[in-house]
Amino acid sequence: MKVERPPQHDIEGMVERAAELRLPFHKWPFALRDLWRNQQASRRRRELAFINLIGLVTCLLCLPLDYSIGPRVLEMGLILRLGLVVPAYLLAIYCALQGGWLLQRWTSILPAVCFAGVAGYLGMHIGPSVQNEYFMGSALLIIIAAVVVPLRPYSVAVMVLLSLTALWAVWVALPPVRAQQTFALLAYLTAISLVALAIPFRTAILKDRNFLYALRGELASERLIAANEQLRELSHRDDLTGLPNRRYFERIFHTAFRAAKTRGDDVAVMMIDVDHFKQFNDTHGHAAGDRALKQVAKELEKQFAQSGSTVARYGGEEFVVVVEHGSHDEALRLADRARDAVARRPVTLDLVGRVSVTVSIGVALQRSDAASPEALIERADEALYEAKRAGRNIVRLAREEDRPGAPDALKKSA
Ligand code: GH3
Ligand code: MG
Ligand code: MG
Repeated sequence: MKVERPPQHDIEGMVERAAELRLPFHKWPFALRDLWRNQQASRRRRELAFINLIGLVTCLLCLPLDYSIGPRVLEMGLILRLGLVVPAYLLAIYCALQGGWLLQRWTSILPAVCFAGVAGYLGMHIGPSVQNEYFMGSALLIIIAAVVVPLRPYSVAVMVLLSLTALWAVWVALPPVRAQQTFALLAYLTAISLVALAIPFRTAILKDRNFLYALRGELASERLIAANEQLRELSHRDDLTGLPNRRYFERIFHTAFRAAKTRGDDVAVMMIDVDHFKQFNDTHGHAAGDRALKQVAKELEKQFAQSGSTVARYGGEEFVVVVEHGSHDEALRLADRARDAVARRPVTLDLVGRVSVTVSIGVALQRSDAASPEALIERADEALYEAKRAGRNIVRLAREEDRPGAPDALKKSA
């Protein structure tokens, strides 16, 4: 079950502190205890219901024991066990499955107390012959319950103390025939049960520590995964423009190309090159050139974002765009709009003022019978060269006859 958690850095600090200082559970920050409760919640429900079911079965199995002692004991056992203990267990099972934390705790304590009280009552009033067995049985059950019941140790302590109180209350209210001897037995039983309480306290300390260490490991691995993710993201990006870099572009382009081929769709590639950029650098300096490149990148990204196309920095002052599902006209329209947008936004330089920057674009559209992604880029590059030759700040579409495997009819008509 996925649990809602406070922000990672907060919870990490809490876990570190609690683990370092070996803080006991009740000194953990509230958020951490809450996390513990949430994480345990579903498991504790099942465990509590199961333990109470075991208690219920044990209680019913005591009836043949009562019967073996005599019909009067069976009669008393039937009334007390079926009238008191069994309903308490049924309530505990129901609340374990359906109730909140508080209800689960108290309804699980109740049957143990009833069980001890009834066993004590029967033990004190069935005659000395089997009295020891009943008391020892009660002691054993209290100890077992103290060890296995999945409650916090303080709740277990309450359960054990109340169970012992029930036994002592019976002894005081309905003194048995051999009160002296019973007193010794009860005192013995009380001592053993109190000593046994050390077990849940010790177990809880170990379990809590395990919880902290496991959480610490989980948080550390989450941090590692996030750092890896960030690293991967960075390795896909171009430092200057923040656009995807060429390596990443080639990967997604190959994937898009294959997918388009499978679907029978067209895919378009645009090669975009800044015009006279060497001159721009020579005139305004490399830093200004960098600023211009960033601005062009931003503008291209904005222009192509709406169509869901990916813009990447191909290298130097060249960019590349892949347009999926793009028709012939659509690709040309997008390219021309981007060219126009770049031309309309001059770069503002400190001393010089606004300097115009333009780009030339070569577009190649590949039908689904495409040869290869590399061939498509090559054709876009040739179209870009054509655009440069034609005067720059121009979009050119790759000629169909350049396409490998183009029908002869097309070649003739070109
Ligand atoms: P054309 O219109 O034919 O494309 O001419 P051009 O000057 O743009 O072409 P050329 O390939 O001769 O020059 C490209 C220049 O781009 C050369 C290089 O200094 C510059 N350049 C490449 N990468 C960067 C960069 O990251 N920052 C800056 N400032 N300049 C770069
Ligand atoms: Mg170039
Ligand atoms: Mg150039």
